[in-house]
Parts: sequence; C-alpha cells; structure tokens
Amino acid sequence: MKRRDFLGLLSATAATAYILAEYGKKDSIPVEPVNRTTPDVGTESENLQLQKVTHFDDDFGDDVILPVEKFDVLISLRDKLNYIQSYVGYANYSVLNFNELMKYARYNGQIGEFNSAQLALIDELFNENAQVYGFYGERINDHIDDRVDRNNMVKVAGTGQFMFKGQPLQTLKNLERDVGRQMILTSGVRSVVKQLLLFTNKAVSVNGNLSRASRSLAPPGHSFHAIGDFDVGMKGLGKRNFTAEFSNTPVYQQIRELDYIKIRYHETNRFGVRYEPWHIKVV
Ligand SMILES: [Zn+2]
Repeated sequence: MKRRDFLGLLSATAATAYILAEYGKKDSIPVEPVNRTTPDVGTESENLQLQKVTHFDDDFGDDVILPVEKFDVLISLRDKLNYIQSYVGYANYSVLNFNELMKYARYNGQIGEFNSAQLALIDELFNENAQVYGFYGERINDHIDDRVDRNNMVKVAGTGQFMFKGQPLQTLKNLERDVGRQMILTSGVRSVVKQLLLFTNKAVSVNGNLSRASRSLAPPGHSFHAIGDFDVGMKGLGKRNFTAEFSNTPVYQQIRELDYIKIRYHETNRFGVRYEPWHIKVV
C-alpha cells in the first residue's frame, strides 16, 4: 500500500471499536481511576526531586527498573513499534491510534500480531501510576485507544509533523513571525502510540530503568503533545535541540523574551522531568 493511501483507508475502517480481548488477552485493559487534582508533589523530599531533575540521566537507588525477564519483551516491543513506524511513515505514525496499530500488526504478514507478553507490557506501561516512577505530571489520556482528531490538525510542510488547529497552530505562527526562520518545529502532535514508541526507545536505551526514562520523557498517556503542546528548535542543531544546549541558542533567547510563551518544564519543576527549554506549553 502506498503511504499516501494510509489515512484514507483507516478512516474507512476506523468504525470498528477496539477491544483488547480480540487481540489475544482475556482481560480488557483496566482503566485506573484518574486523579485529576493537582499532582501530589510532596511524596519525595524537594531536595531529592530536584536532584533527580538535574541529574535526569543518572541512575538513582530507588529507581523503578523493569525486571530482567521483561527486558527482552521490551526490546521486541521497541523493534515492532519502530518497524510499524517505518512501514506507515514517520508523520503518519505520529498520529496513529492503538486500534490502527493493532490492525497493521494483524493484517500485515511481515509485521505479525503483538503477542500476549507485548500486549501485557503495553498495558503496564500505559496504565501504571506514573508517580511510582517519580513522574508527577498529570495523566492526559485515560484510554489506550484514545485518538487524536485528524480533522482538527494540519500537516506542517517540511517538518513531518502535525499541529492542532486553533491555539497551538496560532502560537506556532506567532513564534515564526517573531523569531524567524532559524526556528523550526521539531515535534508537534503525538498520539498515545507515538508516545509509547518514544518511551519504549528511551527505556531500552537506559536498560529498562523506567524512572530514568520518565525523567526525559512523559510515559505514554501523560504527554501534552496529545492535546496541543509542541517542541521547537534551531535549524541545524539536530538532536542537540533536545538538550539543555538549546537554551544557549539565539532562537531560545528570542523565545524567552516573548511574554505569550510559556515553557512547561523548568529547571526546578516539581514534575520529576528534566529541564525542557524547547517544550512550548499551550494547554
Ligand atoms: Zn515536548
């Protein structure tokens, strides 16, 4: 199938409701009651929390590590998700929903269905109370099969990214107007399964340390990219746009002068997340 046919096909088949039991697991994905109140930031000492935010890519004694027997499953899950991303295309994958992910796996012989161990791990990564990892940001998606509204977004030419219409897109346009062409959009809309892929990649790279992964990246279901936040960078800086180095660039210096722009994760945030000068808070 040609990539450009992808979204059209899915919109025709998306009416089928997804039930996890269909895909080989007897229990449906449990949805934990969601605490919509202010994150409970008092469970760790402020000192320790700030230390973790500063040294986000270190291991700490009380970090939650995936058990050894699940690490192979994590690797196989990472490989499968990345394979599907390369198959459907980077931009399409960023707005893919869980139902579609399962369909690709099921109906494409080269991909193959997710096995029960992989589904159980997805279930765990999505439904776990992220505060257990030391992540105190709020839950954004209550259900694994939440979808991003493709009718309410536009593809931004030359970026491989989508942006939600309305306030997010307007904020990006204002930034482009005020900062100029040195500024680029590095990450826009991200669905639950996109966040799952990014989190899985990170978790493998840190040997299954889920706490350490969550200091760099919101666990699946906890990303504001699913509802409007976005990331910017400086042209030519590449992956270093996602490091503190970005805060030394002229692009960031200009951004911080703009009173309509807020950064979601500051140096001393109490969410258990590293400093992210590139992450624009919209919602
Ligand atoms: Zn971000």
